[in-house]
Amino acid sequence: MSTPCGGADLASAAAEAVRFTSDLIRIDTTNTGDDDSRGEREAAEYVVGLLEDVGYEPVYVESRPRRANVFLRIAGADPSRSALVVHGHLDVVPADPHEWTVDPFSGAIEDGMAWGRGAVDMKDMDAMMIACVRDMAVNGWCPARDLVVAFFADEESSGTWGSEWCVRNRPDLFAGATEAIGEVGGFSTTVAGRRAYLVQTAEKGLMWLRLIMRGTAGHGSAANSDNAVTHLADAVARLAAHRWPRDMMPAVDTLLRGVADLVGRPYSDDPATIDALVDALGPARRFVAPSLGTALNPTGLQAGCKANVVPSHAEATMDVRPLPGQEDHALAVVADVLGERGHVEILHRGIGVEAPFDVPLVDAMAAALGRADPDAVVLPYLLPAGTDAKSLAALGIRGYGFVPLRLPADFDFTAMFHGVDERVPVGAIEFGTRVLADFLATAG
Ligand SMILES: [Zn+2]
Repeated sequence: MSTPCGGADLASAAAEAVRFTSDLIRIDTTNTGDDDSRGEREAAEYVVGLLEDVGYEPVYVESRPRRANVFLRIAGADPSRSALVVHGHLDVVPADPHEWTVDPFSGAIEDGMAWGRGAVDMKDMDAMMIACVRDMAVNGWCPARDLVVAFFADEESSGTWGSEWCVRNRPDLFAGATEAIGEVGGFSTTVAGRRAYLVQTAEKGLMWLRLIMRGTAGHGSAANSDNAVTHLADAVARLAAHRWPRDMMPAVDTLLRGVADLVGRPYSDDPATIDALVDALGPARRFVAPSLGTALNPTGLQAGCKANVVPSHAEATMDVRPLPGQEDHALAVVADVLGERGHVEILHRGIGVEAPFDVPLVDAMAAALGRADPDAVVLPYLLPAGTDAKSLAALGIRGYGFVPLRLPADFDFTAMFHGVDERVPVGAIEFGTRVLADFLATAG
């Protein structure tokens, strides 16, 4: 494949990316969310070593002891243009070795796959980023615009000690940046025999809530029409049964119109057609179906201290995922169901974000994908979860999910995220490294 990367030896970069993916998986960076994440410092030191090895001077930042972030700024061909942030996270979610068929931290390369926790989330991209910027240094080419290459800690626990901390405390590191690329987008899914690459252009908001319902405390033997446990159970059941309306955000609308074209079905927003178009997305439907509306799940209950004591209050936790811009509406629905006896505490809130699809940056993604895979169709989608892009939005940086991976049609990619036997095809890492290099050389 010829690329605009100045004759860069992308075969060697692609091979490096596979090796770095495996090496990074072997550094256990499990983030339990209890501030005892292991391995982030060791992984960051590994990244720093690979960057220093080719002459770079990365910036190493610990938000608190062992919570390590790494930054590298690379000058682009056109210094008048705004900078592009290219970011990954170094932490992973826990893996129970008893559930896996391989050691989740072995980084094994077997059956054409790189295996282990972080294979797709997201040490593959970390490795591709490192391989691409090393290739720039070794083969003497530069990106189209200034790059801020960032490796964050703590993404798997809301970014408190990673992207959120860096944005709040070291905004200087992002100076001049207007756009970013990061995780959970750019992968292919096969629709009607064509490979559709889904670029993530929007993310749902997230709200973790504590619902507290009050009642009248008393003896368990007495009639009690103001029982907090009963009130809470009723509210939880009503919220779980609440029918959130379908609402087609621009990214989802564009995606499903594109799918309609691919499957040769007239587009219509009637529910049966929408369901059929979502189903046509194969494994990617797991990400797309929840993007049709706000979702709410009760995730915990707590009340009482003894079987014969009616408590004065009862609590529930909820995970609410509103569509971008609908956070306040979702809170209003919850407050309405709780009524006067209850109130809501927001334990954590992440904003929904949306970026436009019809921009030069996405055109550059599509062009780079098209050069590597002439069969590529590029469509946007709305991630029903969150990434570090939410933190970057506080600096006015528009985030896109773009980890270009060409995947076999029968590979259940979306099940890999936080899943058992997480793995990624070696060929997808090699493909992704070439496309990422091409994209960085031409980034719109
Ligand atoms: Zn991730």
